[in-house]
Amino acid sequence: MIPFIDLQAQRARLGQPLEDAILKVVRSGAYIMGPEIAELERQLGVFGQAPHVLSCGSGTEALVLPLMAWGIGPGDAVFCPSFSFAATAEVMPLVGASPVFVDIDPDTYNLDPISLEAAIVAVKAAGQLTPRAVIAVDLFGGPADYPAIAAVCARHGLKLISDSAQGFGCTLDGKHPIHWADVTTTSFFPAKPLGCYGDGGAVLSKDARFHDLLVSLRVHGQAVTSDIEGKTFDHDPKYLNVRIGMNARMDTLQAAVLLEKLKIFEDEIAARNRVAGRYAAGLSDLVKTPTVLKGGVSVWAQYTIELANLPGRGGRDDLAPQLREQGIPTAVYYPIPIHQQGVYSVYPTAPGGLPVTDAKAGQVISLPMHPYLTTDHQDQIIAAIRAFVQTNGPAAS
Ligand SMILES: *Cc1c(COP(=O)(O)O)cnc(C)c1O
Repeated sequence: MIPFIDLQAQRARLGQPLEDAILKVVRSGAYIMGPEIAELERQLGVFGQAPHVLSCGSGTEALVLPLMAWGIGPGDAVFCPSFSFAATAEVMPLVGASPVFVDIDPDTYNLDPISLEAAIVAVKAAGQLTPRAVIAVDLFGGPADYPAIAAVCARHGLKLISDSAQGFGCTLDGKHPIHWADVTTTSFFPAKPLGCYGDGGAVLSKDARFHDLLVSLRVHGQAVTSDIEGKTFDHDPKYLNVRIGMNARMDTLQAAVLLEKLKIFEDEIAARNRVAGRYAAGLSDLVKTPTVLKGGVSVWAQYTIELANLPGRGGRDDLAPQLREQGIPTAVYYPIPIHQQGVYSVYPTAPGGLPVTDAKAGQVISLPMHPYLTTDHQDQIIAAIRAFVQTNGPAAS
């Protein structure tokens, strides 16, 4: 079977220095908040063009922390796409707020600024919820339309989070999403473009006070500089818990892994783009291949094509088993949009529902994508898809 994502090829490339870095942490004993944590936060800031970076335990925690810091809670609305991983919407109910689901652009699969505007206007008119923030997602690694989305947020006084769990490293006109967003979050789950050897995440931000608040929330609401400056204490203010926080720390071991992986990340992004270019050259005359926003660079967390399920002609759901027989794995992200899932179906959607999201869920299919995909394997994949489409008739949507 051709690997869908080949983490072992990456591990072989990273070699002994990676294992040495892990062993160094094991021997040091600094398992929590060891020196690798601060160094990783510094390097992620340089890479991601962000003044402040907070490492944390997962991409989900990275999304919860800013909502907590802004005091978003019951009665508040946070707008997000439904065509995403569940965590994007899960964090709103976690803080007591309501997600409001917005439709996506049919070509980039990212938040549609027109649907966003309509959803905000509708929520304001209904008068039940207070619009507070927007979470845009860089789905499959490609940047969302930040200039347009940020303009909508500015017009309505909303905070903007870029959920870049799949898109960390993506750019638009050379700028990272944090250029437009108040906060960028990411995940270092192993299968993400920049992954560690377990769970991890980060919050990139621009404001020192806000970052300070995140530092406090990450460790049980502990007093931070802004809480103690100008005051005197009878006890060490380290043990002063001034707000409700949580434990959202990243392990030092994961920071050590990420410091090694960051060294080759730019090169891997270039390799992913070469793989994507070859897929497009081999397939785009027959099926719908991905679109990256003009001026954008994707990090290709997924390479997702579309085949409509046409009755009697074969489509997405027939392609997957045929490829599997030939040793080619595929995956469907996402077969059930979040707003159609039971527990999330109670939350509002943009007016008129989410027709683009509903349609895409039935026709997307993701192909093997990683920096180490060989041209031989890629040629096999391309040939197998071409043969399928040519026997089953035009399946491009
Ligand atoms: C993976 C992912 C997350 C959650 O990250 P975890 O580290 O698994 O908690 C959030 N949003 C999107 C879009 C993701 O793909």
